[in-house]
Amino acid sequence: MAGSTLRASAPWKVLDGFGASVRSVSRFVRPESPEALAAVLARAAAESLPVVLRGSGRSYGDASLNTGALAIDMRGMSRILAWDAERGVADLESGVTIGDLWRHSLPQGWWPTVVPGTMHPTMGGCVAMNIHGKNCYRAGPFGDHVLELDLLTADGRTRTLSPQHEPELFRAVIAGLGLLGVVTRVRVQLKRMHSGRLRVRPIQTPTLEAMFDALAARTSTADYLVGWVDCFASGAALGRGLVHEAHHLAEGEDPLGAATLAASHQELPGSIFGVPRSLVWRFLQPITNDFGIRWLNHAKYVVPEPTDRDGTFLQSHTAFAFLLDYVPDWRRVYGPGGFLQYQIFLPDATARAGFREALQLCQRRGVVSYLGVFKRHRADTFLLSHGLDGWSMALDFPVPEHDAERLWALTRDLTQLVLEAGGTFYPAKDQVVDAASFARAFGDRVTRFKAIKQQLDPAGVFASDQARRLGLV
Ligand SMILES: Cc1cc2nc3c(=O)[nH]c(=O)nc-3n(C[C@H](O)[C@H](O)[C@H](O)COP(=O)(O)OP(=O)(O)OC[C@H]3O[C@@H](n4cnc5c(N)ncnc54)[C@H](O)[C@@H]3O)c2cc1C
Repeated sequence: MAGSTLRASAPWKVLDGFGASVRSVSRFVRPESPEALAAVLARAAAESLPVVLRGSGRSYGDASLNTGALAIDMRGMSRILAWDAERGVADLESGVTIGDLWRHSLPQGWWPTVVPGTMHPTMGGCVAMNIHGKNCYRAGPFGDHVLELDLLTADGRTRTLSPQHEPELFRAVIAGLGLLGVVTRVRVQLKRMHSGRLRVRPIQTPTLEAMFDALAARTSTADYLVGWVDCFASGAALGRGLVHEAHHLAEGEDPLGAATLAASHQELPGSIFGVPRSLVWRFLQPITNDFGIRWLNHAKYVVPEPTDRDGTFLQSHTAFAFLLDYVPDWRRVYGPGGFLQYQIFLPDATARAGFREALQLCQRRGVVSYLGVFKRHRADTFLLSHGLDGWSMALDFPVPEHDAERLWALTRDLTQLVLEAGGTFYPAKDQVVDAASFARAFGDRVTRFKAIKQQLDPAGVFASDQARRLGLV
């Protein structure tokens, strides 16, 4: 590539979002050092070639796509730069994944304070989306545990930001969708653990109201709470499902002791019912249709999980946190059209009526989500964060290869529902929201964000397909 321009020499690559229902072709580079990254960025700026930053590509939609321009894959820089096992503080290059981090820290008794439902996202992706975990109502989002970060801006400067130093910019970069610069280093605070296991209690919730009530009753005591919703259940059973509450174990509480902290205790099993994990999606594909999922949901709801006499069981952190990682490539069960996720975020005051309306709307339209995941959230101070004092329900829909109009019409109506109920949108899960709706949900926060972007990146080096769609660049 030396000597020639990126436009002429960087190879083309087809990239997709995790849902595999949006794809784009862009030029692609993976720098392996901060110097190589700085050189690529300088050349892209000189060539007016817009850049998207890409972590592990685990955002469901078009957040890390950049049609016809350049994608910089950040996974070439994935070193753990420093680790303080006394205080549980890690300095990480931004390509380090959540999986890399817990494998390093847990044997010494520390677990990342906030993790998403998969261990593959990078630190850069977690910062740029300000991801949340099953403990959001208590621990807040990822950004609340970032002590400091380095940002390489379009002018080639690296700025160190923290809640104390340039706090306004710090709060704009977190949840800033990678549009203000490259996050090259993140310092995070982890949480002390005495066991590699959690005590988990499954709770059957026969209605949507019961699900809200089960979570609301436990937010001050449980360390993690998550609900699964059977989106096919209707009538009096609308919104029925299962809640899982989990608690950390105190020192001495785990009969197996600290041995469970070992990475070997945490690795997910290589096979499920004798089928190698990598092949499991092929067995799930034939039943991934309305009939099969309705039946599976019924079985999941009525068949009790094995528990001890007190109604709980012990489960490793990884098995509880990263359930979806059990089946590698599970997104392929949806076939060539892929799928999309629509995560509805509504404030506490409107969530009960709003989620009921959303589930009924899907059923009326005959476009029912194959997976519904329910969480409690709390508000945060990051400029473009999706966080709010309220609730979310994530809905996964297969995208038909032909004639997806019913699905697109449904997503437009869900967007309208969110706006009318005073909710927000989460870019990590989005591929459909339009600029006017995003601006309406985020109000003057969009104007403030664009003013910061104009100052830091006046030539518009950092962009993405999503940012163009949402009207942020
Ligand atoms: C199975 C599954 C479960 C999930 N569960 C959850 C969940 O429970 N909670 C939740 O909040 N999210 C969840 N997610 C979403 C995921 O956590 C986010 O989309 C996350 O941002 C993905 O990180 P990534 O490294 O793959 O980044 P990508 O998806 O590649 O990129 C995401 C954004 O980060 C930007 N970016 C990447 N690297 C950098 C960098 N170095 N500097 C600046 N910007 C950068 C990109 O430009 C893009 O805007 C889930 C995703 C999957 C697939």
